[in-house]
Amino acid sequence: MKVDQHTALYGVIGNPVRHSLSPALHNAAFSVTDLNAVYLAFEAKDIEECIRGIKALGIKGISITIPFKTAVMPYLDEIDPLARRIGAVNTIVNHNGRLKGYNTDALGALKALEEKTKLPGMTCLIIGAGGAARAIGFMLKEKGVAVSIGNRSPKRGKELARSLECLYLPLDEIGVGKADILVQTTPVGMYPHIDQCLIPEHILEEGMVVMDIIYNPLETRLKKMAAERGCTTINGLRMFIHQGMEQFRLWTGLSAPLNLIQTVLEEELRTT
Ligand code: NAP
Repeated sequence: MKVDQHTALYGVIGNPVRHSLSPALHNAAFSVTDLNAVYLAFEAKDIEECIRGIKALGIKGISITIPFKTAVMPYLDEIDPLARRIGAVNTIVNHNGRLKGYNTDALGALKALEEKTKLPGMTCLIIGAGGAARAIGFMLKEKGVAVSIGNRSPKRGKELARSLECLYLPLDEIGVGKADILVQTTPVGMYPHIDQCLIPEHILEEGMVVMDIIYNPLETRLKKMAAERGCTTINGLRMFIHQGMEQFRLWTGLSAPLNLIQTVLEEELRTT
């Protein structure tokens, strides 16, 4: 990688952020497309100060992660309508000092699902009611999917179900209806608690599409169980790559080869 007086700066802002795979993804994409740019991780406390810094230093593009996806919104000059509807921004594009916010998590999940299934007319049970569930729920609803929400806390689950005008189920009742697609959006099962799983085995039926948005580990307990029961499975890395490639496209107008990026990230996960 060549770094000189023309190198453009991009990065991710979050807290914590040291576990993020985004630097590996975007630096691989810059390298393969031969762009003179670098992408760094910034662990931050105050998002308003970060926004001033982005403008002052002319940082070209930023990914936003936990806990700033909603908190950043009042400081931006413009927000894409989808991100506004979802209520969260995970991408900032700097257009000559004017910062515009987007949400690519929703599109990432959509593209990962569309690689394995058609969506209009399908039913989908989303487990979780946090930021990721919200983004995925809005996107699937727009694609004609009948969504329902299963969540631990009834308050948050019912709030999201109300926004999506759909059914809320407590976790101990998620088996009552049959869904074509199941999307797991909680951190349960993530490293180091890799033996945990919120989904009872019996609700996983042959032919279902099951996506666990956790990518560390790549093979979660849920994903293994679903594969054993004849479901079509999707791991969280595929969603992550698609959301990152959409960020890359918004920043540069270019696309990078997905399979090459996937290989880089799988290697990164194996070695960290
Ligand atoms: P969030 O806003 O904090 O929401 C977390 C959700 O998980 C809430 O619904 C919470 O339920 C539920 N939850 C947490 N711990 C639980 C437990 N022990 N038992 C039952 N439910 C539990 O987080 P988020 O932004 O949606 O992110 C969620 C996960 O998705 C994270 O692991 C993140 O790394 C991953 N993610 C992956 C991608 C990707 O591209 N693959 C993109 C975004 C996020 P309550 O409401 O009851 O607290």
